[in-house]
Amino acid sequence: MIQPWLQDQWRSITQALQTESTRLPTGLMFLGSRGLGKFDLGLETARMMLCASPITESTATAGACGRCSACRMFSDGMHPDFHLLTTEAFATNLSQSISLTASRYHESTDSAKAPRKPRQVISVNAVRNLIQNLATHSHQGGARVVLIAPATDLNVNAANALLKILEEPPGDTRFILICSARDSVPATILSRVMCVEIARPDFDVSVRWLIENGVRESDAEELLTLSAEAPMTALAYHQRNLLEQTRGWQRLLEKLITSKILPVSMAANIESESTGDFLLWLERLLCDAVAARFGRRESTLLVTDGENVIADNDSLCHWLISRPLWDIIDKLQYYRRYQQRAVDEQLFVEDVLIAVWQKI
Ligand SMILES: [Zn+2]
Repeated sequence: MIQPWLQDQWRSITQALQTESTRLPTGLMFLGSRGLGKFDLGLETARMMLCASPITESTATAGACGRCSACRMFSDGMHPDFHLLTTEAFATNLSQSISLTASRYHESTDSAKAPRKPRQVISVNAVRNLIQNLATHSHQGGARVVLIAPATDLNVNAANALLKILEEPPGDTRFILICSARDSVPATILSRVMCVEIARPDFDVSVRWLIENGVRESDAEELLTLSAEAPMTALAYHQRNLLEQTRGWQRLLEKLITSKILPVSMAANIESESTGDFLLWLERLLCDAVAARFGRRESTLLVTDGENVIADNDSLCHWLISRPLWDIIDKLQYYRRYQQRAVDEQLFVEDVLIAVWQKI
């Protein structure tokens, strides 16, 4: 499904796909922050490229027909000419059929061994298997599409292995790469694709979309702030009831800054499956406090019309606004960008909470 804020890009893609003279380049990269629907856009583009009779008459309904055998195979996750390279971790959030497509390039797990955490990198083996599969002819006699998401999760060897085939794709092969940070992908990859920039929609557009998707108006702004204004992330937070959880985290944080609880006890109260969300929430909260402190913009997390918000909590609000918290923000941002895969998340939560505690 193409989200309303992606309609312009979708129109350009569908028009280019129907006009031979302005064909799309063989390598495309959708570039923009997380939570804007880039993966779904990539998926729809791939589906249309493989469809036997794409709908092209009207731009409003342009896309794959949904009825031909290629479309049916695609929907069942069985299209042999659609290659999806993604991490095991990313695949856990995909629909069953798309995750089935992705599993073709995942190493099978040994059922005799203890279950392991889903891997967070696209390995060189996956790229080698892809190159091998592309060495033969297309199964359906038409185009072949390779979707790589997130391209930032290609490890160094995998990115290097991909270069040659990206530059000279065999037969009618097209590549679509999904990327959330330009500087996290080697320049050698960037130079071989055409980048399509995906911008965040206007705040009001996102609020409207969230309301249409069942979010209460009073929650929509706060969810958007928590998600760095990425509407699809905001909706996912809503579906996971994250606002409710943040209320609990606020209460814990207040206890910490009023010395009613120690950092280690607070860390023990953050459920292990929520540590990633907690760290992101804390980062947004601190950034929001800094923005409010310098009057850069109206704070959404500290001052909202909803109930039970931090604004009602004088001690926490005062602490947030009055302390220099840059170093903790730096720590959180550095962790998110560079250390996420390498560091034990729960130990990091303790580490950050000790830093917060030292600011009291
Ligand atoms: Zn079709």
